[in-house]
Amino acid sequence: MRKTELQISLTNLDHNISVIKSKTTSDIQAVVKANLYGLQLEKIIEILDPQVESYAVITLDEARALRKLTKLPILLLQGAHENEDYEDIKQLELDFVLHSSWQIKGIDKHNLANNRLWLKLNTGMNRLGFDEQEFAEHYNLMTKKNFKDLVVMSHLASSSDISNKQNQSQINKFNKITNDISNKKSLANSGALFNYPESHYDIVRTGMALYGGKYQEFGIKSISCLRSKIISINKVSKGETVGYDGAWRAKQDTYIAAIGIGYGDGFPYFSGPYSVNINGNTYETVGKINMDLITINIGNEHGINVGDWVQLWGYETNLTELSKSFHSISYQLLTNISRRVAKNYLE
Ligand SMILES: *Cc1c(COP(=O)(O)O)cnc(C)c1O
Repeated sequence: MRKTELQISLTNLDHNISVIKSKTTSDIQAVVKANLYGLQLEKIIEILDPQVESYAVITLDEARALRKLTKLPILLLQGAHENEDYEDIKQLELDFVLHSSWQIKGIDKHNLANNRLWLKLNTGMNRLGFDEQEFAEHYNLMTKKNFKDLVVMSHLASSSDISNKQNQSQINKFNKITNDISNKKSLANSGALFNYPESHYDIVRTGMALYGGKYQEFGIKSISCLRSKIISINKVSKGETVGYDGAWRAKQDTYIAAIGIGYGDGFPYFSGPYSVNINGNTYETVGKINMDLITINIGNEHGINVGDWVQLWGYETNLTELSKSFHSISYQLLTNISRRVAKNYLE
């Protein structure tokens, strides 16, 4: 078996859950879309299940996989993607968002008395949701129908940036429009959990705060370590090149270690040097990342062997900082890690 793994610390996950719970008395919805931000469902759901009120995903396939693992409510964050979806929404007893009037057609054709409807208000993200007038109309319409419950929600555009004035204006708008409504309310994501306690309402929707790709400054710990074992060590003489397009040339005799991970595993593409850790020391990659391999200059006098672990990022790595060197964000670093990479768990 290929020894390339995303190791996931369940201890750090537990730690993050307690940090989150120390920040709010509201219920927690664990956002587990995109295969749990790339971290895979099964083991983590086991830990989350006794601690959260509900889950959130995007697609019916995600919901179907998750339904096998939990009896808790599962919210489709974009609701139905076509009106035929309500058949599955009913069967799987899914909560669903209503953000556009075209999504109503299928609602009328099904008995959704076991489902919660989440009515989405647009407070300024201008992506999904009804504006004030439409929201009032749809609220009146939907309260006449028979759902298990109706939750009102919106989404903040810049909640991780406390200096962004749009946050307060979105919160004020949500507050003003929903003030007379006694239904459950949900506005906050991870950023708002930390930065805007007044946005917590009844249910806080947290994703990244659980998985630690962000928010270290609030005591959150990263829960993943990406590593791969050396499968080959080769001697390269001064003047020889390594890898595709001869992109790197040895300035002196050296040894090159190869590890079985590449962009085909979802690691971002790069052609410059990238720092990795082997047995506690830092080394640089050479040449271009391949689909299935990365090459590392381990120098002439090394104590490194085939089978040694090479760490591409560790629990101490700040994934937000790291992602910047790939012009990306930590969310994408995690969600891109493909199913080909084994997910192993550290108790
Ligand atoms: C993804 C998502 C979240 C979770 O965001 P985090 O920043 O990971 O906490 C919450 N709400 C909605 C609508 C989302 O799409």
